Amino acid sequence: MAILMDGKALAAEKMEELRQRTEALKARGVTPGLSVILVGDDPASQVYVRNKGRACEELGFYSRTVRLPEETTQAELETLIDELNADGRVDGILVQLPLPRHLDEAAALRRIRPEKDVDGFHVENAGRLFTGQDGVVACTPKGILYMLKKSGVPLSGKDAVVIGRSNIVGKPVAVLLLNENCTVTLCHSRTADLAAHTRRADVLVAAVGRPRFVTADMVKPGAAVVDVGINRVDGKVVGDVDFAAVEPVAGWISPVPGGVGKMTICMLMENTLEAAEKRSR
Ligand code: NDP
Repeated sequence: MAILMDGKALAAEKMEELRQRTEALKARGVTPGLSVILVGDDPASQVYVRNKGRACEELGFYSRTVRLPEETTQAELETLIDELNADGRVDGILVQLPLPRHLDEAAALRRIRPEKDVDGFHVENAGRLFTGQDGVVACTPKGILYMLKKSGVPLSGKDAVVIGRSNIVGKPVAVLLLNENCTVTLCHSRTADLAAHTRRADVLVAAVGRPRFVTADMVKPGAAVVDVGINRVDGKVVGDVDFAAVEPVAGWISPVPGGVGKMTICMLMENTLEAAEKRSR
């Protein structure tokens, strides 16, 4: 039976640490602030934005959520970002993705001042990660690493396989695993014989966006399996891993819900807190 990488428990412990650090900072007169911009009314995005607001409340952050209509123009969005860039109460700005199709996501992200880019999606922060310099690390990849390390999963010298090559999960998590001295393979939809790769993985990260995509025969016995997927099936949230089948084979496994998603929010709060700590220096 696999050891559960329990995002809920790890998040509760991390939030307590963040709460104490927030209190210490507030005692010095600095309140961390996060502003989330939501354009349109995508139902999943609304849930994420609400959860982020709640986490801010729990830690006592200043929080400002700006909801813009679907038909918002690029200029209007960028004017708002400029305003938040200049707002001294706001340490972190997050543009909830995906944006409606008519908007230029990359340009919007570039508009955020890199030190306020708490999602770590700005090219400067992505470039810093890629070149081994200090910067803001994207929340989901950072949360995955945190979870693996806290769960005692050995990384150095191990074979890590990541399924998915997106800018927000696959690529940055591959770099983080490389930094931990894993030998990393990055797989995607054109990978020939995916299972031949995944079966060699000591650490397997699934960030595909397909329900129960990773089956037991794709997993090396004893591997650490991280499920990043959030898929809605018949009104239920399920991951990219067939949990019931894989759990008896794996050495460690993260559930969905209650896994990576919980860590992602914690890391967002930590990135915001760290931006505020830097401001206070
Ligand atoms: P993307 O859709 O951007 O990327 C999916 C990746 O999976 C692509 O690289 C794609 O390959 C690859 N892929 C698709 N089909 C296959 C296949 N049959 N075989 C191998 N690879 C395949 O998704 P994201 O990275 O944004 O998100 C992935 C999942 O993680 C989603 O379910 C998302 O909801 C979830 N997520 C969860 C978060 C959390 O906090 N828990 C945060 C962010 C995302 P190709 O590049 O060739 O198209």
